[in-house]
Amino acid sequence: MTIDWQKEAENYRDDLLQDLTTLLRIDSARDVAHGTQDEPLGPGPAKALRAMLALAERDGFKTLNVDNVAGRIEYGDGDEIFGLFGHMDVVPAGPGWDTDPFEPVIKDGKLFARGSSDDKGPSIAAYYALRLIRDLKLPVNKKIHFIIGTDEESEWVGLNRYLESQPAPDFGFSPDAEFPIINGEKGIATFKVTFKPVAAHSAALTLTSFTAGIRTNMVPQTATATLTGDVPAALREALTTFGPANGVTVASQDTASGLTITLTGKGAHAQEPRGGVNAATYLAVLLAPFGFDPAGKQYLTAIADLMHDDSRGHKLGIAYTDKLMGDLTASPDLFSFGQDAEQSVMINVRYPQGTDAEAIRDRIETTIGPDRVDVAIDGHAQGPHYVSGDDPLVQTLLDTFHDHTGLPAHEQVIGGGTYGRIITRGVAFGAQMPDQENVMHQANEYMPVADIIRAVAIYADAIARLVK
Ligand code: ZN
Ligand code: ZN
Repeated sequence: MTIDWQKEAENYRDDLLQDLTTLLRIDSARDVAHGTQDEPLGPGPAKALRAMLALAERDGFKTLNVDNVAGRIEYGDGDEIFGLFGHMDVVPAGPGWDTDPFEPVIKDGKLFARGSSDDKGPSIAAYYALRLIRDLKLPVNKKIHFIIGTDEESEWVGLNRYLESQPAPDFGFSPDAEFPIINGEKGIATFKVTFKPVAAHSAALTLTSFTAGIRTNMVPQTATATLTGDVPAALREALTTFGPANGVTVASQDTASGLTITLTGKGAHAQEPRGGVNAATYLAVLLAPFGFDPAGKQYLTAIADLMHDDSRGHKLGIAYTDKLMGDLTASPDLFSFGQDAEQSVMINVRYPQGTDAEAIRDRIETTIGPDRVDVAIDGHAQGPHYVSGDDPLVQTLLDTFHDHTGLPAHEQVIGGGTYGRIITRGVAFGAQMPDQENVMHQANEYMPVADIIRAVAIYADAIARLVK
Protein backbone atom coordinates (compact mmCIF):
# COMPACT_ATOMS: atom_id res chain seq x y z
CA MET A 1 0.00 0.00 0.00
CA THR A 2 1.40 3.38 -0.94
CA ILE A 3 0.45 6.06 1.52
CA ASP A 4 0.46 9.77 0.71
CA TRP A 5 1.61 10.76 4.18
CA GLN A 6 1.43 14.47 3.54
CA LYS A 7 -2.15 14.25 2.25
CA GLU A 8 -3.21 12.09 5.19
CA ALA A 9 -1.64 14.56 7.61
CA GLU A 10 -3.44 17.51 5.97
CA ASN A 11 -6.76 15.85 6.82
CA TYR A 12 -6.11 16.52 10.50
CA ARG A 13 -5.17 20.18 10.13
CA ASP A 14 -8.30 21.73 11.68
CA ASP A 15 -8.60 19.24 14.54
CA LEU A 16 -4.91 19.50 15.29
CA LEU A 17 -4.92 23.30 15.42
CA GLN A 18 -7.93 23.29 17.69
CA ASP A 19 -6.30 20.84 20.12
CA LEU A 20 -2.99 22.68 19.99
CA THR A 21 -4.76 25.95 20.81
CA THR A 22 -6.29 24.31 23.89
CA LEU A 23 -2.82 23.31 25.09
CA LEU A 24 -1.14 26.63 24.26
CA ARG A 25 -3.73 28.61 26.22
CA ILE A 26 -2.46 26.98 29.42
CA ASP A 27 0.49 28.77 31.04
CA SER A 28 2.36 25.64 32.06
CA ALA A 29 5.60 27.12 33.33
CA ARG A 30 6.95 25.45 36.44
CA ASP A 31 5.51 27.20 39.47
CA VAL A 32 6.52 25.31 42.59
CA ALA A 33 5.68 28.34 44.73
CA HIS A 34 2.05 27.41 44.04
CA GLY A 35 2.71 23.67 44.16
CA THR A 36 0.61 21.36 46.30
CA GLN A 37 0.97 17.73 47.25
CA ASP A 38 -1.36 16.96 44.35
CA GLU A 39 0.33 19.25 41.85
CA PRO A 40 3.93 19.60 43.04
CA LEU A 41 5.11 21.57 40.00
CA GLY A 42 2.26 24.07 40.28
CA PRO A 43 -1.18 24.17 38.66
CA GLY A 44 -0.05 24.94 35.07
CA PRO A 45 2.05 21.88 34.22
CA ALA A 46 -0.56 19.53 35.74
CA LYS A 47 -3.39 21.24 33.87
CA ALA A 48 -1.57 20.97 30.54
CA LEU A 49 -0.78 17.31 31.18
CA ARG A 50 -4.43 16.52 31.96
CA ALA A 51 -5.53 18.44 28.86
CA MET A 52 -3.19 16.38 26.66
CA LEU A 53 -4.34 13.10 28.20
CA ALA A 54 -7.97 14.19 27.81
CA LEU A 55 -7.48 14.59 24.06
CA ALA A 56 -6.14 11.06 23.85
CA GLU A 57 -9.01 9.66 25.91
CA ARG A 58 -11.51 11.52 23.73
CA ASP A 59 -9.93 9.76 20.74
CA GLY A 60 -10.10 6.35 22.40
CA PHE A 61 -6.49 5.83 23.45
CA LYS A 62 -5.57 4.25 26.76
CA THR A 63 -3.80 6.76 29.04
CA LEU A 64 -2.00 6.89 32.36
CA ASN A 65 -1.49 9.86 34.67
CA VAL A 66 1.50 9.47 37.00
CA ASP A 67 0.90 11.76 40.00
CA ASN A 68 0.03 14.77 37.80
CA VAL A 69 3.71 15.14 36.84
CA ALA A 70 3.94 12.76 33.87
CA GLY A 71 1.66 10.73 31.66
CA ARG A 72 1.43 8.12 28.94
CA ILE A 73 -0.64 7.53 25.83
CA GLU A 74 -0.56 3.91 24.69
CA TYR A 75 -1.15 2.13 21.43
CA GLY A 76 -0.26 -1.25 19.96
CA ASP A 77 1.22 -4.40 21.42
CA GLY A 78 4.38 -6.45 21.21
CA ASP A 79 7.47 -7.49 23.16
CA GLU A 80 9.41 -4.31 22.67
CA ILE A 81 8.43 -0.80 23.72
CA PHE A 82 8.90 2.06 21.29
CA GLY A 83 8.87 5.39 23.14
CA LEU A 84 7.98 8.94 22.20
CA PHE A 85 8.96 11.63 24.68
CA GLY A 86 7.30 15.04 24.67
CA HIS A 87 6.68 17.67 27.30
CA MET A 88 3.82 19.96 28.29
CA ASP A 89 5.74 22.45 30.44
CA VAL A 90 7.10 25.68 28.95
CA VAL A 91 9.72 28.21 29.97
CA PRO A 92 8.21 31.43 31.39
CA ALA A 93 6.91 33.84 28.77
CA GLY A 94 9.42 36.55 29.72
CA PRO A 95 9.30 40.10 28.36
CA GLY A 96 9.24 41.35 24.78
CA TRP A 97 6.11 39.72 23.31
CA ASP A 98 4.11 41.49 20.59
CA THR A 99 1.05 39.34 21.36
CA ASP A 100 -0.30 37.52 24.40
CA PRO A 101 2.04 34.52 24.76
CA PHE A 102 -0.87 32.34 25.94
CA GLU A 103 -3.37 33.37 23.29
CA PRO A 104 -2.19 31.69 20.09
CA VAL A 105 -2.32 33.84 16.94
CA ILE A 106 -1.61 32.74 13.36
CA LYS A 107 0.11 35.45 11.32
CA ASP A 108 1.65 34.83 7.88
CA GLY A 109 1.29 31.08 8.43
CA LYS A 110 3.16 31.21 11.73
CA LEU A 111 1.53 30.17 14.98
CA PHE A 112 2.75 32.47 17.76
CA ALA A 113 2.54 31.33 21.40
CA ARG A 114 4.86 30.21 24.20
CA GLY A 115 5.29 26.46 23.63
CA SER A 116 4.37 26.53 19.94
CA SER A 117 7.76 25.12 18.92
CA ASP A 118 8.90 23.86 22.35
CA ASP A 119 7.25 21.53 22.80
CA LYS A 120 3.46 21.59 22.49
CA GLY A 121 3.50 21.98 18.69
CA PRO A 122 5.90 19.08 18.04
CA SER A 123 4.18 16.95 20.72
CA ILE A 124 0.76 17.40 19.17
CA ALA A 125 2.31 16.53 15.78
CA ALA A 126 3.63 13.28 17.23
CA TYR A 127 0.24 12.59 18.79
CA TYR A 128 -1.57 13.11 15.47
CA ALA A 129 1.00 10.84 13.83
CA LEU A 130 -0.15 8.12 16.25
CA ARG A 131 -3.76 8.86 15.37
CA LEU A 132 -2.95 8.63 11.69
CA ILE A 133 -1.28 5.24 12.15
CA ARG A 134 -4.29 3.99 14.10
CA ASP A 135 -6.90 5.47 11.76
CA LEU A 136 -5.20 3.87 8.75
CA LYS A 137 -4.94 0.59 10.72
CA LEU A 138 -1.24 0.24 9.85
CA PRO A 139 0.57 -2.82 11.21
CA VAL A 140 1.96 -2.25 14.71
CA ASN A 141 4.02 -5.00 16.33
CA LYS A 142 5.42 -3.12 19.28
CA LYS A 143 4.00 -1.35 22.28
CA ILE A 144 4.00 2.38 21.60
CA HIS A 145 4.34 4.53 24.72
CA PHE A 146 3.98 8.26 24.16
CA ILE A 147 5.41 9.58 27.43
CA ILE A 148 4.66 13.15 28.45
CA GLY A 149 6.74 15.06 30.96
CA THR A 150 5.90 18.32 32.70
CA ASP A 151 9.30 19.48 33.96
CA GLU A 152 11.56 19.18 30.92
CA GLU A 153 12.67 22.80 31.22
CA SER A 154 13.94 22.38 34.77
CA GLU A 155 14.74 19.23 36.67
CA TRP A 156 12.87 16.47 34.84
CA VAL A 157 10.90 15.67 37.99
CA GLY A 158 8.03 14.27 35.89
CA LEU A 159 9.93 11.90 33.65
CA ASN A 160 12.16 10.70 36.48
CA ARG A 161 9.07 9.96 38.57
CA TYR A 162 7.57 8.12 35.60
CA LEU A 163 10.60 5.86 35.25
CA GLU A 164 10.49 4.95 38.94
CA SER A 165 7.25 3.04 38.44
CA GLN A 166 6.92 2.48 34.67
CA PRO A 167 9.02 0.51 32.18
CA ALA A 168 11.60 2.42 30.15
CA PRO A 169 11.12 2.06 26.38
CA ASP A 170 13.69 -0.03 24.52
CA PHE A 171 14.27 2.68 21.94
CA GLY A 172 12.59 5.84 20.74
CA PHE A 173 12.74 9.51 19.96
CA SER A 174 11.74 12.85 21.37
CA PRO A 175 9.96 15.32 19.08
CA ASP A 176 11.63 18.23 20.88
CA ALA A 177 14.51 19.56 18.81
CA GLU A 178 15.20 19.74 15.10
CA PHE A 179 15.46 17.72 11.89
CA PRO A 180 17.28 15.86 10.51
CA ILE A 181 18.15 14.32 13.92
CA ILE A 182 19.91 14.90 17.21
CA ASN A 183 21.74 11.68 18.05
CA GLY A 184 24.28 13.26 20.35
CA GLU A 185 23.84 15.72 23.18
CA LYS A 186 26.50 17.49 25.17
CA GLY A 187 26.72 17.12 28.92
CA ILE A 188 24.95 19.83 30.90
CA ALA A 189 25.91 21.35 34.21
CA THR A 190 25.11 24.60 35.97
CA PHE A 191 27.76 26.17 38.15
CA LYS A 192 26.91 28.51 40.96
CA VAL A 193 29.61 31.12 41.47
CA THR A 194 29.19 32.70 44.91
CA PHE A 195 31.29 35.76 45.70
CA LYS A 196 32.97 35.99 49.09
CA PRO A 197 32.47 39.04 51.27
CA VAL A 198 35.09 41.77 50.95
CA ALA A 199 35.93 44.43 53.53
CA ALA A 200 33.80 47.49 52.88
CA HIS A 201 35.26 50.94 52.58
CA SER A 202 33.66 54.17 51.53
CA ALA A 203 33.24 54.78 47.82
CA ALA A 204 31.58 57.45 45.73
CA LEU A 205 29.25 54.84 44.24
CA THR A 206 27.67 51.75 45.76
CA LEU A 207 26.16 48.91 43.76
CA THR A 208 23.01 48.31 45.80
CA SER A 209 21.59 45.53 43.67
CA PHE A 210 22.16 43.73 40.37
CA THR A 211 19.67 41.18 39.06
CA ALA A 212 19.09 39.39 35.75
CA GLY A 213 17.70 36.18 34.33
CA ILE A 214 14.71 33.95 34.97
CA ARG A 215 16.07 30.45 34.30
CA THR A 216 19.45 28.73 34.28
CA ASN A 217 18.86 27.66 30.66
CA MET A 218 18.02 31.05 29.20
CA VAL A 219 20.28 33.94 28.23
CA PRO A 220 18.89 36.90 30.24
CA GLN A 221 17.00 39.41 28.14
CA THR A 222 17.00 42.19 30.74
CA ALA A 223 19.25 43.18 33.62
CA THR A 224 18.70 45.80 36.31
CA ALA A 225 21.18 47.53 38.59
CA THR A 226 20.51 49.99 41.39
CA LEU A 227 23.26 52.42 42.39
CA THR A 228 23.47 54.82 45.29
CA GLY A 229 25.81 57.80 45.55
CA ASP A 230 26.90 60.61 43.26
CA VAL A 231 26.51 59.50 39.67
CA PRO A 232 29.58 60.74 37.75
CA ALA A 233 29.06 62.70 34.55
CA ALA A 234 30.99 60.09 32.61
CA LEU A 235 28.49 57.43 33.65
CA ARG A 236 25.58 59.66 32.64
CA GLU A 237 27.28 60.09 29.28
CA ALA A 238 27.82 56.32 28.96
CA LEU A 239 24.11 55.72 29.59
CA THR A 240 23.30 57.48 26.33
CA THR A 241 26.18 56.20 24.17
CA PHE A 242 26.53 52.57 25.33
CA GLY A 243 23.24 51.31 23.90
CA PRO A 244 23.64 52.51 20.31
CA ALA A 245 27.31 51.44 20.29
CA ASN A 246 26.51 47.88 21.43
CA GLY A 247 23.13 47.09 19.94
CA VAL A 248 21.34 47.02 23.29
CA THR A 249 18.80 49.30 24.96
CA VAL A 250 19.68 51.21 28.13
CA ALA A 251 17.07 52.96 30.25
CA SER A 252 17.70 54.75 33.53
CA GLN A 253 15.76 56.48 36.21
CA ASP A 254 17.01 58.76 38.97
CA THR A 255 16.05 57.71 42.48
CA ALA A 256 16.19 59.65 45.75
CA SER A 257 19.67 58.29 46.46
CA GLY A 258 21.06 57.39 43.05
CA LEU A 259 20.02 55.63 39.89
CA THR A 260 18.29 52.52 38.55
CA ILE A 261 19.52 51.22 35.19
CA THR A 262 17.80 48.60 33.06
CA LEU A 263 19.55 47.12 30.06
CA THR A 264 17.69 45.05 27.47
CA GLY A 265 19.46 42.56 25.20
CA LYS A 266 17.98 39.43 23.66
CA GLY A 267 16.92 36.21 25.38
CA ALA A 268 17.83 32.86 23.85
CA HIS A 269 18.26 29.21 24.72
CA ALA A 270 21.43 28.73 26.74
CA GLN A 271 22.57 25.85 24.54
CA GLU A 272 23.77 28.41 21.99
CA PRO A 273 24.51 31.66 23.83
CA ARG A 274 25.46 33.32 20.53
CA GLY A 275 21.75 33.31 19.68
CA GLY A 276 21.14 35.92 22.37
CA VAL A 277 22.54 39.18 23.69
CA ASN A 278 23.32 38.74 27.39
CA ALA A 279 21.83 41.80 29.10
CA ALA A 280 23.67 41.13 32.37
CA THR A 281 27.20 40.92 31.02
CA TYR A 282 26.60 44.04 28.91
CA LEU A 283 25.35 45.90 31.98
CA ALA A 284 28.47 44.83 33.91
CA VAL A 285 30.67 46.06 31.05
CA LEU A 286 28.83 49.38 31.10
CA LEU A 287 29.24 49.83 34.87
CA ALA A 288 32.59 48.21 35.70
CA PRO A 289 34.83 51.19 34.72
CA PHE A 290 33.24 53.44 37.34
CA GLY A 291 34.57 53.50 40.91
CA PHE A 292 32.30 51.23 42.94
CA ASP A 293 32.39 49.94 46.50
CA PRO A 294 34.65 46.87 46.94
CA ALA A 295 31.89 44.22 46.74
CA GLY A 296 30.26 45.91 43.74
CA LYS A 297 33.60 46.31 42.00
CA GLN A 298 34.56 42.66 42.61
CA TYR A 299 31.23 41.48 41.19
CA LEU A 300 31.08 43.77 38.17
CA THR A 301 34.75 43.29 37.24
CA ALA A 302 34.55 39.48 37.33
CA ILE A 303 31.50 39.51 35.06
CA ALA A 304 32.87 42.14 32.67
CA ASP A 305 36.35 40.62 32.41
CA LEU A 306 35.63 36.88 32.54
CA MET A 307 32.04 36.26 31.42
CA HIS A 308 31.21 38.82 28.75
CA ASP A 309 31.11 37.66 25.12
CA ASP A 310 32.61 34.33 26.12
CA SER A 311 30.22 31.73 24.72
CA ARG A 312 33.06 29.19 24.35
CA GLY A 313 34.47 29.72 27.85
CA HIS A 314 37.90 30.97 26.76
CA LYS A 315 38.06 33.73 29.37
CA LEU A 316 36.79 31.38 32.09
CA GLY A 317 39.53 28.90 31.14
CA ILE A 318 37.10 26.08 30.31
CA ALA A 319 37.16 26.12 26.49
CA TYR A 320 37.12 22.58 25.08
CA THR A 321 36.31 21.08 21.69
CA ASP A 322 35.66 17.48 20.69
CA LYS A 323 35.82 16.47 17.02
CA LEU A 324 32.48 14.65 17.15
CA MET A 325 30.53 16.74 19.66
CA GLY A 326 31.91 20.22 19.02
CA ASP A 327 32.56 23.15 21.37
CA LEU A 328 31.86 23.54 25.05
CA THR A 329 29.51 26.50 25.53
CA ALA A 330 29.13 28.70 28.59
CA SER A 331 26.15 30.94 29.36
CA PRO A 332 25.91 33.02 32.54
CA ASP A 333 22.15 33.11 33.00
CA LEU A 334 21.11 34.08 36.54
CA PHE A 335 22.55 37.05 38.41
CA SER A 336 21.83 38.05 41.96
CA PHE A 337 23.65 40.75 43.93
CA GLY A 338 22.72 42.70 47.02
CA GLN A 339 24.80 44.39 49.68
CA ASP A 340 24.56 42.05 52.70
CA ALA A 341 22.76 39.53 50.48
CA GLU A 342 23.71 36.80 48.03
CA GLN A 343 26.22 37.79 45.37
CA SER A 344 26.17 35.07 42.76
CA VAL A 345 26.12 34.11 39.09
CA MET A 346 24.77 30.83 37.70
CA ILE A 347 26.67 29.69 34.62
CA ASN A 348 25.08 27.05 32.39
CA VAL A 349 27.70 24.95 30.60
CA ARG A 350 27.19 22.40 27.79
CA TYR A 351 30.25 20.18 27.41
CA PRO A 352 31.34 17.53 24.91
CA GLN A 353 32.84 14.15 25.76
CA GLY A 354 36.42 14.42 26.95
CA THR A 355 35.83 16.74 29.89
CA ASP A 356 33.55 16.62 32.92
CA ALA A 357 31.69 18.83 35.35
CA GLU A 358 34.23 18.48 38.19
CA ALA A 359 37.13 19.58 35.98
CA ILE A 360 35.08 22.53 34.70
CA ARG A 361 34.17 23.55 38.26
CA ASP A 362 37.83 23.48 39.31
CA ARG A 363 38.88 25.63 36.37
CA ILE A 364 36.17 28.27 36.86
CA GLU A 365 37.19 28.63 40.51
CA THR A 366 40.89 28.84 39.64
CA THR A 367 40.26 31.43 36.92
CA ILE A 368 38.10 33.81 38.98
CA GLY A 369 40.19 33.12 42.08
CA PRO A 370 39.46 30.89 45.09
CA ASP A 371 40.03 33.93 47.31
CA ARG A 372 37.12 35.73 45.59
CA VAL A 373 34.59 32.96 44.90
CA ASP A 374 33.27 29.53 45.74
CA VAL A 375 32.10 27.51 42.74
CA ALA A 376 29.66 24.61 43.14
CA ILE A 377 27.81 22.32 40.71
CA ASP A 378 24.13 23.22 41.07
CA GLY A 379 21.98 20.08 41.22
CA HIS A 380 23.06 17.15 39.06
CA ALA A 381 25.34 17.30 36.05
CA GLN A 382 24.12 15.22 33.09
CA GLY A 383 26.90 13.54 31.12
CA PRO A 384 27.20 13.59 27.30
CA HIS A 385 24.93 11.20 25.33
CA TYR A 386 25.53 9.64 21.90
CA VAL A 387 23.69 7.02 19.80
CA SER A 388 25.81 5.70 16.92
CA GLY A 389 24.94 6.69 13.38
CA ASP A 390 24.99 2.96 12.56
CA ASP A 391 22.07 2.25 14.90
CA PRO A 392 18.98 1.20 12.88
CA LEU A 393 16.93 3.77 14.81
CA VAL A 394 19.15 6.59 13.55
CA GLN A 395 19.26 5.11 10.04
CA THR A 396 15.47 4.77 9.80
CA LEU A 397 14.80 8.30 11.04
CA LEU A 398 17.34 9.82 8.66
CA ASP A 399 15.96 7.79 5.71
CA THR A 400 12.42 8.92 6.51
CA PHE A 401 13.42 12.56 6.78
CA HIS A 402 15.26 12.40 3.47
CA ASP A 403 12.38 10.62 1.71
CA HIS A 404 9.97 13.36 2.79
CA THR A 405 12.09 16.42 2.19
CA GLY A 406 14.83 15.50 -0.27
CA LEU A 407 17.17 17.31 2.12
CA PRO A 408 20.50 15.89 3.28
CA ALA A 409 20.09 13.69 6.33
CA HIS A 410 23.06 13.60 8.64
CA GLU A 411 24.02 13.03 12.24
CA GLN A 412 23.96 16.02 14.59
CA VAL A 413 25.15 16.80 18.08
CA ILE A 414 23.67 19.71 20.04
CA GLY A 415 24.05 21.49 23.34
CA GLY A 416 21.54 19.02 24.57
CA GLY A 417 18.97 18.68 27.15
CA THR A 418 16.32 16.77 25.21
CA TYR A 419 14.47 13.74 26.50
CA GLY A 420 16.34 11.73 23.86
CA ARG A 421 19.02 11.12 26.43
CA ILE A 422 16.67 9.46 28.92
CA ILE A 423 17.26 6.01 27.37
CA THR A 424 20.42 4.51 25.87
CA ARG A 425 18.87 4.19 22.40
CA GLY A 426 17.14 7.56 22.50
CA VAL A 427 17.47 10.46 20.08
CA ALA A 428 15.61 13.66 19.26
CA PHE A 429 13.90 13.97 15.88
CA GLY A 430 12.36 17.28 14.73
CA ALA A 431 10.22 19.12 14.57
CA GLN A 432 12.15 22.27 13.63
CA MET A 433 13.09 22.24 9.93
CA PRO A 434 16.75 22.84 9.02
CA ASP A 435 16.02 26.17 7.30
CA GLN A 436 13.87 27.43 10.17
CA GLU A 437 15.25 29.88 12.77
CA ASN A 438 15.33 28.59 16.31
CA VAL A 439 12.91 30.70 18.38
CA MET A 440 12.54 28.33 21.32
CA HIS A 441 12.65 30.09 24.71
CA GLN A 442 12.53 33.48 22.97
CA ALA A 443 9.92 36.22 23.00
CA ASN A 444 7.51 35.80 20.06
CA GLU A 445 8.17 32.05 19.84
CA TYR A 446 6.35 30.58 16.86
CA MET A 447 6.09 27.54 14.66
CA PRO A 448 5.06 27.60 10.98
CA VAL A 449 1.75 25.74 10.68
CA ALA A 450 2.98 24.02 7.52
CA ASP A 451 5.92 22.59 9.49
CA ILE A 452 3.60 21.17 12.15
CA ILE A 453 1.56 19.36 9.48
CA ARG A 454 4.71 18.20 7.75
CA ALA A 455 5.99 16.86 11.07
CA VAL A 456 2.78 14.78 11.42
CA ALA A 457 3.55 13.17 8.04
CA ILE A 458 7.22 12.53 8.80
CA TYR A 459 6.51 11.22 12.31
CA ALA A 460 3.73 8.91 11.14
CA ASP A 461 5.92 7.41 8.42
CA ALA A 462 8.91 7.09 10.78
CA ILE A 463 6.92 5.48 13.59
CA ALA A 464 5.22 3.12 11.11
CA ARG A 465 8.63 1.98 9.85
CA LEU A 466 9.95 1.49 13.40
CA VAL A 467 7.02 -0.47 14.84
CA LYS A 468 5.88 -2.61 11.90
ZN1 ZN B 1 11.64 21.17 24.86
ZN1 ZN C 1 12.86 24.12 26.05
